[in-house]
Amino acid sequence: MPDDDRRFVVIGGGLAGLASAVWLAEAGRDVTLLERRGQLGGRTHAMRADLVDDVPDNGQHVVASGYRNLWRYLTSVGTRQYIEFPKRSTLRWPDGRKTTVQTSGIGALRTLFGVHPDAGVLDRLRAARATIRLGVQALRQPADLADLTTEQWFERVGMPATAREALWDWLALGIAAEPVSRESARVFANVLATGIRLGLRHRVPVTIGYPTVDLGTLYISGAVKVFEERGVTVRYRTVARRIVIEDGAVTGVLLADGTTVPADAVICAVPNSAIGGLLDDLPEHAEIYAAADKLGYTPIVSTNLYLDRPLGTESAFEGLIGGTGIIDEVFDRQIMHGRRTDRAWLYCLTTSGAYEQIHKSNDEIVDEQLALLRRYYPAAVDAKVVQAQVVKMPKATFSQVVGTDALRPPQRTSVPSLALAGDWTATDWSATMESAVQSAARAVDLVLSTEG
Ligand SMILES: Cc1cc2nc3c(=O)[nH]c(=O)nc-3n(C[C@H](O)[C@H](O)[C@H](O)COP(=O)(O)OP(=O)(O)OC[C@H]3O[C@@H](n4cnc5c(N)ncnc54)[C@H](O)[C@@H]3O)c2cc1C
Repeated sequence: MPDDDRRFVVIGGGLAGLASAVWLAEAGRDVTLLERRGQLGGRTHAMRADLVDDVPDNGQHVVASGYRNLWRYLTSVGTRQYIEFPKRSTLRWPDGRKTTVQTSGIGALRTLFGVHPDAGVLDRLRAARATIRLGVQALRQPADLADLTTEQWFERVGMPATAREALWDWLALGIAAEPVSRESARVFANVLATGIRLGLRHRVPVTIGYPTVDLGTLYISGAVKVFEERGVTVRYRTVARRIVIEDGAVTGVLLADGTTVPADAVICAVPNSAIGGLLDDLPEHAEIYAAADKLGYTPIVSTNLYLDRPLGTESAFEGLIGGTGIIDEVFDRQIMHGRRTDRAWLYCLTTSGAYEQIHKSNDEIVDEQLALLRRYYPAAVDAKVVQAQVVKMPKATFSQVVGTDALRPPQRTSVPSLALAGDWTATDWSATMESAVQSAARAVDLVLSTEG
């Protein structure tokens, strides 16, 4: 056991808080985790669908092979084996055309350089040249990149429309949850640079994978086991109001019920939407609150559609291109999870940057998503919805539009026994699970390094 009997308190039971608490507990520390809801997981959690006796997620989450801190977390909680990296995916157009996209190996290069069925040789050569330019400029960024949208950057490097439609607009939307017309080119470039560096360091290109179990099994069950084994106290429905700092050191966390949890070190792992008030005692609080406000939010709408028949998908996830101009993705839970189909087939659709959808009723959203599927999959024409769930998240992630790239606060604060964590703090990634967990790794190092 370490020679450190300090009391560590973690505020927030999302991925950043879970990873912080797990790693502090692994280091043998006395840990209390405060979570305002009745369950852990924050923005990554499973739900019940009683009618079909199933456990879908609050929204489909994909991972990148470069999520090194996430792998460390999954290893700690014993669920690393539940991630699959498919070798291919499928892109579909409304007129029935489709193409198979290689997502790993040499075939992935072909994907990068243009897989659109309308792309001729010249288009593919242009896509290859523009891709190389993107890579070079991501690593050595032009001074004005922070003033550009990702769309303007694509135009500047000469990315052809076919390559944008079949890959790049989708990738950019996936990375920063904003349409390319709003997204900061700097944010996209930074993530590209992280991916390129990781790929070069480990000699394997970064690729995309998905969980083969629900998010509760993947992230929470294993963490709860660690907490039980290592004596971590988890306090549910406990709202932290202010981190009490006296004479430059943390002394406790004041709760909404007026009581105080004594603490010698705190990791504050709440999103930017919930930071207000918690840091009032920290000298630089006004600056952090202002950054949190300016970062703002982007909405995501997820729809879990249980249908009475299979759609005829070929890949675990397929991209639906064209028509609305937005690329939608369909995730087939039968292929992904090997789920039983005696009651229904589950297809998950997630719309990032859902500024229009977020204001619609659930029924409207279900109708729209079904109509979308009918345009792409003949089997959907007569399909009936057995159960549908719509999850609207107006504050799904902080926003990464032009002008936001320099706002994210570091994990280190001016009080050594207080560190910040959460996807919105400054990391190598955009608003992702890896960002949440990387911030936790840094926050844990910071509070542990102040021992004694
Ligand atoms: C629909 C959707 C799809 C996504 N898809 C992907 C994806 O494909 N790939 C990817 O990498 N990322 C994805 N993300 C982003 C990813 O889910 C988040 O970046 C990550 O989960 C954030 O974790 P966090 O711990 O920083 O914050 P959160 O998960 O928000 O956790 C914060 C926790 O703090 C608690 N809390 C807040 N205030 C207080 C308080 N005062 N006292 C006590 N507790 C408090 C909250 O209840 C919450 O549990 C997606 C997000 C959404 C919403």
